[in-house]
Amino acid sequence: MRAIQALQAGGPDVLDLVELPTPVPGPGELLVDVAAAGVNFIDTYRRAGVYPMEYPHVVGTEGAGVVAAVGPGVADFAPGDHVAWTNAFGSYAEQVVVPADVAVPVPEPVDLRVAAAVGLQGLTAHYLVTSTYPVQPGDDVLLHAGAGGVGLLATQLAVRRGARVITTVSTEAKADLSRAAGASDVVNYAELDDLTTELPAIVRDLTGGRGVAVVYDSVGKDTFEASLASLRRRGMLVLFGGSSGQVPPFDLQRLNKGGSLFTTRPKLDDYTATRAELLDRASEVYALVASGDLDVRVSATFPLARAADAHRALEARATTGKVLLVPGSGVGSDADTSTATGPTTDPAS
Ligand code: NDP
Repeated sequence: MRAIQALQAGGPDVLDLVELPTPVPGPGELLVDVAAAGVNFIDTYRRAGVYPMEYPHVVGTEGAGVVAAVGPGVADFAPGDHVAWTNAFGSYAEQVVVPADVAVPVPEPVDLRVAAAVGLQGLTAHYLVTSTYPVQPGDDVLLHAGAGGVGLLATQLAVRRGARVITTVSTEAKADLSRAAGASDVVNYAELDDLTTELPAIVRDLTGGRGVAVVYDSVGKDTFEASLASLRRRGMLVLFGGSSGQVPPFDLQRLNKGGSLFTTRPKLDDYTATRAELLDRASEVYALVASGDLDVRVSATFPLARAADAHRALEARATTGKVLLVPGSGVGSDADTSTATGPTTDPAS
């Protein structure tokens, strides 16, 4: 079977299409034919060596597909079942071994590509707005990177809970997407001369001087100060990523000065810590997708062989919504760019 390996730590060029033996599922494991693999920021950190990894390694941890075989002791899944996962190493491949306890059943009406697209980002959006800071009707919310994968989904979920959502984006095309997802006010932060002072002023203006109940901040280094200054008294800064870089060490006394503020740095693993919690969140997200109440945007689909291009697009800030690799498309050749599945990008990306 074909897979994408990172041969060593480095840029997208270290990604190589290789032929590997078909993996064999061990006890408690599934062998899955991958319909689509999700491309995530964390894959680029692991490829680049920001997070320590062994090399070579098959990249990717997210996807959806059809169970091809089950290992000993697996009772909950059978060949032919549709499943999705967010943390099975080696997912940029035609086949991957997925531990049964991290696999989630995909209900019939949900397309496997959509299931792959809504996995990590959908579960993240869900825990952020329902658990980390449970959004209340009437809340003012600030969400950075509003046209990103998590951003578009979290906006929709927060609006469904009755919030007014203010987002930031870097282009006008992204602003249109964010508005379509339900944002009431969209700020192009790339146009601000001084983000740290100008954004909080805009937010206070929009909220009658109060500031917002919560900021969902995945951008990190570039936005953290503005996020802190945009909060209302006793508001919460949820820092869940560092797309622009990590936030430097922080003096807790500043939370006191800012109005008894809260801050947290959550991660998905801690909000899907038990199998029951994982299944509950996934089934809620899939139910919203199946009923048409949650729009899942796939902005680019690449054949497996073009994984490096998918990483370049993500790192260049050129994507919106989800980026997928589809092993079954393009027959693995860079020349196969005219197939229906890849690569396709939209004008907004
Ligand atoms: P996005 O689709 O949101 O892509 C990142 C976006 O961040 C870009 O499109 C861009 O939007 C914005 N951005 C701002 N500054 C930069 C920069 N210097 N370089 C690159 N992008 C920048 O990605 P995801 O939705 O997949 O993930 C969002 C973030 O959330 C990531 O940092 C990811 O690691 C994190 N994450 C955290 C999880 C957790 O549980 N803690 C789980 C899942 C993701 P614009 O052009 O509009 O500024």
